[in-house]
Amino acid sequence: MNFLSALVRFENLHEVRRLCHWGPIIALSVIAICSTMAIIDSVIWYWPLDTTAGSINFLMLLNWTVLILYNYFNAMFVGPGYIPLGWKPENPKDTQFLQYCRICQGYKAPRSHHCRKCNRCVMKMDHHCPWINNCCGHLNHAYFTSFLLLAPLGCSHAAFIFVMTMYTQLYERISFGWSTVKIDMSAVRQFQPLMPFSVPAFAATLFALGLALGTTIAVGMLFFIQMKVILRNKTSIESWIEEKAKDRIQHYQTGEEFVFPYDLGSRWLNFKHVFTLSGTPRGNGLEWPVHSKCHQYTLTIEQLKQKADKRVRSQVQYQAVEDYNGACCPLNKGFRTFFRTPCTEEPRIPLSKGETILATRGTKWWMYGDKIVSEEEMRGKIIFAILISTS
Ligand SMILES: [Zn+2]
Ligand SMILES: [Zn+2]
Repeated sequence: MNFLSALVRFENLHEVRRLCHWGPIIALSVIAICSTMAIIDSVIWYWPLDTTAGSINFLMLLNWTVLILYNYFNAMFVGPGYIPLGWKPENPKDTQFLQYCRICQGYKAPRSHHCRKCNRCVMKMDHHCPWINNCCGHLNHAYFTSFLLLAPLGCSHAAFIFVMTMYTQLYERISFGWSTVKIDMSAVRQFQPLMPFSVPAFAATLFALGLALGTTIAVGMLFFIQMKVILRNKTSIESWIEEKAKDRIQHYQTGEEFVFPYDLGSRWLNFKHVFTLSGTPRGNGLEWPVHSKCHQYTLTIEQLKQKADKRVRSQVQYQAVEDYNGACCPLNKGFRTFFRTPCTEEPRIPLSKGETILATRGTKWWMYGDKIVSEEEMRGKIIFAILISTS
C-alpha cells in the first residue's frame, strides 16, 4: 500500500475527470498509436526479439512509453498548485502591492494568475495547456517540460522504426529509381518476418510515421520555448509582463530600470530551482527568492502599474467596419487573419458593423480589447476583437 501511495497520489484521484477532454484524448491516442505501432513493426517486421539488439530496441521503446506517460500523467494530475482560497499576505500592509481575485476571494500571490479554465489562482502560472487539460505552473513545470523532451525523443525512435520497417519490407517490391543508392540489406533478408507486410500494415505504419514526425517537430519546438524561460527562471506570462514593462518605461520615459526579480543569476541555479530529484520544485509557491535589487513585490507592483496604464491607454476607440461571428480562425476575413489567430483560448468577441471597441494593443490582424456594450459586460475582460479600422 505504501509503495502504491508513493506511485499514485490518492488525493489527486478526483483529477481523473481531466481525461474527459479533447486534449488528453488526442494526446493519449497519439502516444498509444505511435508506441503500439513501433513495437508491432519492430517485433514482426524489422527487429526480431531473439536478437540482442532487437531486445534492447524493444526495451527502449517500452522505456520511452513509460517515461512519457509518467511525466504526462504527473503534469496532469499533480497540477500546477493553487493559491489557497481567500489567501492574504502575512503582513496586511502588503495587500496594497497585490491584485485581488474576486473569484478566489483572495489576493493573488506573487507570480500567480487566475486561470479561467481551472477557475483558480494558479501558482507561478505559465499557461493553461489544453493537451493536459490543466495549467502548467509551479508544481508541474518540471514534469511538463520533461514530457516535452521525452515525447520528441520517443517519437524520433518510433519514426526511425517506421521508416526502416517500410524500407526493408518494400525494398524487394517497389523501385524508387534510386539506382545509385546501395545499402547492404543482406542482414535484413536473412530475417523471415512473422507475417507478410500487408497493405493495412503499410497504411498504419505510414499514418503512425506522420503522427510521430508531427509530434517531434511540434512538441520539440515547445520544449525549446519552455527551456528558454526556465533557464531564466521565468514563465511565458512573465516574459510578456517584462516586455510590457519595458514598453511602459519607454512610453512614459520614466527612467526606471526594470530588473526581472526571479532570475537567480545563473542558468544552472534557475534550472535547479525547477528540476529536482524528488520531482517537487523548491519553494512553497507563495514566496520566491529574488534578485538583490528587488523585493517580494517588485513584479506585482509592476503589474499594478501596467493595469493602471492599460486603463489610461485603452481609451483608443475603434469602430467595426464589418460583422464578425467570433470564430477562432474566420474563413472570410482573409488569409492572414486566418493563419495569424492568436494561440490562446481566450474568447473572441463577435462584432456587428458599427459597434465600438476599446482596444489596448494589437497587430494588423487581431486586437486585444473590450466591446462597449454595458458596464457589466465590460468589466474585467481581456478579449480579442478582429478587423477594426478607425476610418
Ligand atoms: Zn483566482
Ligand atoms: Zn488552467
